[in-house]
Amino acid sequence: MFKLQELIQRHTDELARSITQEQGKTLADARGDVFRGLEVVEYAAGIGRDLMGEYVEHVSGGIDTFSIRQPLGVTAGICPFNFPAMIPLWLFPLATAAGNSMVLKPSERDPGAAMILAQLALEAGLPKGVLNIVHGTHDTVNRILDHPDIASISFVGSDAAGRYIYERGCANGKRVQANMGAKNHAVVMPDANMEATTSALVGAAFGAAGQRCMAISAAVFVGGMGPYREALIEKAKSLKVSAGWEAGADVGPVISPQAKQRIERLIESGVKQGARCDMDGRGIKVAGYPDGNWVGPTLLSGVQPHMECYQEEIFGPVLVCLEVDTLDEAIALINANEHGNGTAIFTGSGAAARRFQSDVDVGMVGINIPIPVPLPFFSFTGWRGSFYGDLQMYGKMGVQFFTRTKTVTQSWKDADSKAIPGLA
Ligand code: NAD
Repeated sequence: MFKLQELIQRHTDELARSITQEQGKTLADARGDVFRGLEVVEYAAGIGRDLMGEYVEHVSGGIDTFSIRQPLGVTAGICPFNFPAMIPLWLFPLATAAGNSMVLKPSERDPGAAMILAQLALEAGLPKGVLNIVHGTHDTVNRILDHPDIASISFVGSDAAGRYIYERGCANGKRVQANMGAKNHAVVMPDANMEATTSALVGAAFGAAGQRCMAISAAVFVGGMGPYREALIEKAKSLKVSAGWEAGADVGPVISPQAKQRIERLIESGVKQGARCDMDGRGIKVAGYPDGNWVGPTLLSGVQPHMECYQEEIFGPVLVCLEVDTLDEAIALINANEHGNGTAIFTGSGAAARRFQSDVDVGMVGINIPIPVPLPFFSFTGWRGSFYGDLQMYGKMGVQFFTRTKTVTQSWKDADSKAIPGLA
């Protein structure tokens, strides 16, 4: 793992170029994609700590019980398009450091980074056959789901695929963890620092073209939107939409023409259902790239919970804005949403933050932090519709997922050891 860490650091630019070319995100975002995965490789280098078992001496006369953690055998990973380096790195370093082999299926839309990582893993000394990359879509996934030798499945992707994979994988007796979609809300309290909050919202809603499972896609203004409308428009206008490799690009294209059409349709549905389009990113032209899948930053305000643009995960650079009167109403709104991946509150009040952190039914909470993705010594803890399973990805839970506990009870009585002088 130390060697792999060093190799990934050395090849970060190559990985980032591959990601930008295939996925479209800016080179800075692509480097971040690699870096957030690299942190898990660093964590995996210290895996011994999490593999330790437990020991109780003298559970009865001359009898001790202890537990050890052993690998599952063959594990599998099925990855989404939006983090082509980070998600494979959430999975194979911990799986293999815990003693398993892994069959990893990258997204068919951007498999390049996973191929480079597998090459680097070989170079770092991972024995042949321990990490196996397979390509494809539904048929390949079905083969993984049904293969009797595969003991576990780690999935990251959309709700529809995740539910299907969880159900079929579990029905086949496999251990499954499934990270799925999100609708992450940011609550803005009247006492929030306006400049910092505006920057945080714009970065978290429009960065990576909104194609992050931890993107802020809904802003809930307690006490009304007030001057935030103008401030958000002003800040979002300063973002440059262009190809990821162009200097100064902030927002790249979305992944496919179908994704662009879907995002545009959801914006239109918001307008038809009565939302106000304060900033419209549809139909923008980007010099030099007439056929790109461009959607510019889009702001919908006056959004109501029944609207399709609120109900659906848009997965594009669109921020829907809602207004409520109290913090309790904001919490109730978030808790009624089917997803529970991440959320954030912006406030100067410790008491408001504490109430929010305690009462919100969401697995990752940011307090004046828009995208609270935990570092690898914690785990990625989405809740409710955003996660099926029990043990979550990376951190201690990640190691527990890739291992199973064997509990040994042993009897070594002094009287049995007559041959050893002094023991009888
Ligand atoms: P996707 O579900 O379309 O694809 C994910 C993987 O599943 C791919 O490898 C794909 O080949 C496979 N797949 C897709 N449909 C399938 C089906 N019907 N049967 C079998 N296999 C199938 O997801 P995507 O568009 O690549 O990624 C975007 C989604 O991933 C968003 O919903 C986003 O929120 C989610 N995501 C979640 C997290 C998280 O940690 N919660 C992280 C990143 C992305």
